[in-house]
Amino acid sequence: MSGADMKLVVVGAAGRMGQTLIRTIHAMTGARVFAAVERPGSPFVGRDAGEIAGLGPIGVPVTDKPLEAFVDAEGVLDFTSPAASVEFSVLSAQARIVHVIGTTGCSESDEEKFKAAGRHARIVKSGNMSLGVNLLGVLTEQAARALGPDSWDIEILEMHHKHKVDAPSGTALLLGQSAAKGRDIDLAEQSVRVRDGHTGARPTGTIGFATLRGGSVIGEHSVILSGEGEQVTLSHSATDRSIFARGAVTAALWARDRKPGFYSMLDVLGLS
Ligand code: NAD
Repeated sequence: MSGADMKLVVVGAAGRMGQTLIRTIHAMTGARVFAAVERPGSPFVGRDAGEIAGLGPIGVPVTDKPLEAFVDAEGVLDFTSPAASVEFSVLSAQARIVHVIGTTGCSESDEEKFKAAGRHARIVKSGNMSLGVNLLGVLTEQAARALGPDSWDIEILEMHHKHKVDAPSGTALLLGQSAAKGRDIDLAEQSVRVRDGHTGARPTGTIGFATLRGGSVIGEHSVILSGEGEQVTLSHSATDRSIFARGAVTAALWARDRKPGFYSMLDVLGLS
C-alpha cells in the first residue's frame, strides 16, 4: 500500500459485486479499500469488509453512514440499487469525488439526477464495466450500420442468474443503444421488449429483446443480426465478476484527475 493509492469506498459491500470489488481492489496496485458501506439494518454493519469478502480482516469495518465514509475518500464504487445510487451521487457531488456507478435498472429521472450530480462529481456510469462488452458495443454499432434494416433484423438475447431483479439487463440495453446508434434510430421508439400471444409479423427496423433467467449465470449476451439466408451473431460471456470490478477500479483511477462530468466506460477505454 502506498500513500498515493486512491482511497475508494465500496458501497453495497456485502453484495455479490461489493465482495468482488473488495477482493479486486486488494489485489490491484494504485487503489485501496478506504471504507465499506451497507444499507442501514444490514447484518453486515460493524463486520470487517475483508472478512465478508473471504480475504480475512483488512481493518475496514462496514458502516451504514455513507456521508462520514465519503468525506475523506477520493472515489466511490457503487453496484447497489437505483434509489441508493441516486442518494450516493448527491453525496459524491457534495464531497466532489469520483462516483463509479454500475447499478442497472435506473429510470430516466434517475439518469437526469446522475447528470446533475456530474456538475460537481466525476461520474462514470455504464451498464457493463468490462472491456469485452464495451468493445462488443462498438462492433454492434458497426454491424448495425453495415447491415441495413430492410434486410437485417436485430435481436438481443441475454441470460443472467436467478437473483437478478431488472430486465432486460443493463448490458442488453447498452447493446441495444449501440445498434440504434448504428441505425440512427431512437431505441425507445423502436424496441420490442416483450412478445406474447398473437403478435403479428415482426415490424421492420425494430430491435427485439429476449430475457432468460436461471441458476448462477453471471452474464451471457448475444446480438443476432438475422438476414435472408444468413445470420451474424456477436456475443460475450462473463465467467467471473472480477471483469466488472477491474473495470470499475480502472474507471475510478481514470476519473481521478478529470474535470467534473458524466462519463461512460467508452470514454475510460478510449472507445468513444
Ligand atoms: P446484490 O443484491 O448482491 O448487492 C447489492 C448490495 O447493495 C446489497 O448488499 C445491498 O444490501 C446493498 N445496498 C442496497 N441499498 C443500499 C444502500 N442504500 N446503502 C448501502 N448498500 C445498499 O446485487 P449485485 O449482483 O451485486 O448487483 C448490484 C447491481 O449491479 C445490480 O443493479 C446489477 O445489475 C449491477 N451490475 C452491474 C454490472 C456492470 O458492469 N455495470 C455488473 C454486475 C452487476
